[in-house]
Amino acid sequence: MNITFIFNILSISTLSCLTREISHLYVSYVPVESTKKYFYQVLPKEYPHFNHVMGETQWCISGNRVKLPKLGWIRFANSRKVEGRILNATVRKNPSGKYVVSLLVETEVKEKPKTSSTVGIDVGLKDFAILSNGHVYKNPAFFRTLEEKLVKAQRILSRRQQVAIKQKRPLPEAKNVQKQRIKVARIHEKIAYARTDYLQKITTEIIKNHDVIGIEDLQVANMLKNKNVAKAISEVSWSEFRRMLEYKAAWYGKQVIAVDPRCTSQKCHSCGHTAKENRQTQAAFLCVSCGHSENADINASRNIHELAMHSNTT
Ligand SMILES: [Zn+2]
Repeated sequence: MNITFIFNILSISTLSCLTREISHLYVSYVPVESTKKYFYQVLPKEYPHFNHVMGETQWCISGNRVKLPKLGWIRFANSRKVEGRILNATVRKNPSGKYVVSLLVETEVKEKPKTSSTVGIDVGLKDFAILSNGHVYKNPAFFRTLEEKLVKAQRILSRRQQVAIKQKRPLPEAKNVQKQRIKVARIHEKIAYARTDYLQKITTEIIKNHDVIGIEDLQVANMLKNKNVAKAISEVSWSEFRRMLEYKAAWYGKQVIAVDPRCTSQKCHSCGHTAKENRQTQAAFLCVSCGHSENADINASRNIHELAMHSNTT
């Protein structure tokens, strides 16, 4: 299968610095159909006007340097080999003031070997994903720290905005507001990159290890109205997780089946009895009918697994 990738090179803060060094190479595989969506997600709201598209002949990569038209050679941390034929490069500015170089690459993808394994996945707030085989993907600890930082920074920003409005100062001219706005944008950006990095790793692992993967068909768009920061971040992660699983399954010859999430957390996997009372606590599942007890998330992921297998055969 021929697929086009986007490689993102994340640079440091200002254009003058850009000519000297790009501090970090951020590489992500993004299928082209969803490129636009992805960029809007990572770079929210103030989409920059600075946009420069270059032809294939005008740029190239050599070692840890990339050559861009007008700017010349720029260093970056070459942590991952850019493979395939590069179609074009785009330079954009993030809301946080950082510059990002995206390389559009066309490359060949080979199917992954079949494993004859099938699995169901339940996503949660405490642990990120729980597999029906008992494997747990935890939320990395630094997400928590970043969330707390974001809440604090946002609070300061809204306070400063209110003060500026009271004093009838236009927000673009209020220096302390703008300074804080960039701080908030940087934390958002950090979270987005860390999240993408983590999700890339675990989705690749899941796709590699299993042939058929059952997931919940969550209506994430509706849930995004949530004001709770931790919850909102998890919800973005869940939809990203699903999107990555689905396109990787298509690339590597695997199958992802989304099932109706209703009752998957209240139904007993052992006898099928469905009741609210089966969930006495968030973590423990105890069936009031047959007495089956299990970790609640694993019970749910087993139900998801079963539903997916069932819809696969019908
Ligand atoms: Zn039961």
